[in-house]
Amino acid sequence: MSSKTPNPFARIPAVDKVLHAISQRDDLAPVPLPLVTGLVREAVEALREDVKGGLTEVPEFDAFVDTRVAEIDSLHRSRIHPVINGTGVCIHTNLGRSPLSARAVAGIAGVGQFYNNIELDLDSGERGKRGGFLEKCLATLIGAEAATVTNNCAAALILMLKHLANGERNEAIISRGELVEIGGGFRVPEIMEASGTKLVEVGATNKTSLEDYEKAITPQTGMLLKVHRSNFWMGGFTHEPGTEELVELGKAHGIPVVEDLGSGAMVMTEGLAPIPHEPTATEVLQRGVDLVCVSGDKLFGGPQAGIIAGRADLVAGIKKEPFFRALRCDKLILTAMQETILEYLSAGENPDLPLLRMLSASVEEDLRPRAQAIIESLKGIEGVEIGMVDTIARCGGGTMPKAEIPSLALDFKPLTMSLPKLAKKLRERELPVMGYVAEDRFRIDLRTVFPEQDRKVIENLLAIFGKL
Ligand SMILES: *Cc1c(COP(=O)(O)O)cnc(C)c1O
Repeated sequence: MSSKTPNPFARIPAVDKVLHAISQRDDLAPVPLPLVTGLVREAVEALREDVKGGLTEVPEFDAFVDTRVAEIDSLHRSRIHPVINGTGVCIHTNLGRSPLSARAVAGIAGVGQFYNNIELDLDSGERGKRGGFLEKCLATLIGAEAATVTNNCAAALILMLKHLANGERNEAIISRGELVEIGGGFRVPEIMEASGTKLVEVGATNKTSLEDYEKAITPQTGMLLKVHRSNFWMGGFTHEPGTEELVELGKAHGIPVVEDLGSGAMVMTEGLAPIPHEPTATEVLQRGVDLVCVSGDKLFGGPQAGIIAGRADLVAGIKKEPFFRALRCDKLILTAMQETILEYLSAGENPDLPLLRMLSASVEEDLRPRAQAIIESLKGIEGVEIGMVDTIARCGGGTMPKAEIPSLALDFKPLTMSLPKLAKKLRERELPVMGYVAEDRFRIDLRTVFPEQDRKVIENLLAIFGKL
């Protein structure tokens, strides 16, 4: 609503009047007052600018206040808080990638709330090694001489480049087929440049031979780098030398071979679901690679971190890099990582990690009974047709793009609102539900919904369709 007056400036509301009106609302989201004040000031200022620019249709006071209340609501929603993932994408980068195990969360709670021994040797009472136990566990788990962790896999790659491809030998050789973008702004060539490394590209996008690498080797070569194509695949007329061949070439010239593996699988992925085998850090090191790096929050199922594993002398050198200090993990991440690694080490073939549970859930034994129970609970609901449908879930997070995991989704056809409207209403709930639209239906894939969240899915739907 708006009105025309001879003097639109006179209709610009005063900040304190708007703040007072807002404070009287009982539907106001719990956003701290300084943020509300700032938001209102900016809105009033913007309106004044618009009027100066010739705007004559100044909104009515109540409409102006309503818009601010909606903005405050939206601001409140933008804080980091839990979301139900009904997208069927297991490692969803927009939804925080891998969920942590209860064990990791409990570890964080204890260490975060109290003091801890992060840099204390309890035997001697002297200063201790930060993350020493974690590193030993990680090396044991991977079967590496040594291992360490850093902020994320991008940081791990930067550190490896800084350590191995600098000074006199600042060139890193990489195949043109591996100059990839992994998503979230991670572009291999840019990372290399940022590390001060000279990128030496060899081969063609689809074909790189061992000779291409060999011809590019000079006295300035610091490393041969292999980057795993995590988020896409190449077919057809392609060739690249195997890791073993590259390792042999590196050895012949005394040049370290490094592989950025990314995805971080620790178990045999083909045993979890009908999906391909994803190479593990252990396998890559067994092929003779000097160093490997992977992400902590992709298939590894832990917190955001970058894992570096391989030759002990190189890991020790990396830890001495000044940048290592700048890119190190904090105590909470180290604790979550430690507990995740301990879960792997103590559970053997079947670590109890949410991500692995999700990937391996059975459609018939796990998902279908849940779908039936949810649909039963929604019986009698009006304004929407509800069913279930077979779907394909994905690993996500830039891992295993070819993996199609058979899954099951709840399938909704609202009769009184559009699909985007239903999607929006679900996103606006206190515990938002993210689904997706396909084949003229709104879907919530149950593979990525935690079973203990089924109740919340039901409550949200009942609230939207007017039964609560
Ligand atoms: C995901 C990925 C990265 C980036 O990992 P972050 O932990 O997000 O920094 C790097 N390299 C590869 C091959 C990846 O798949």
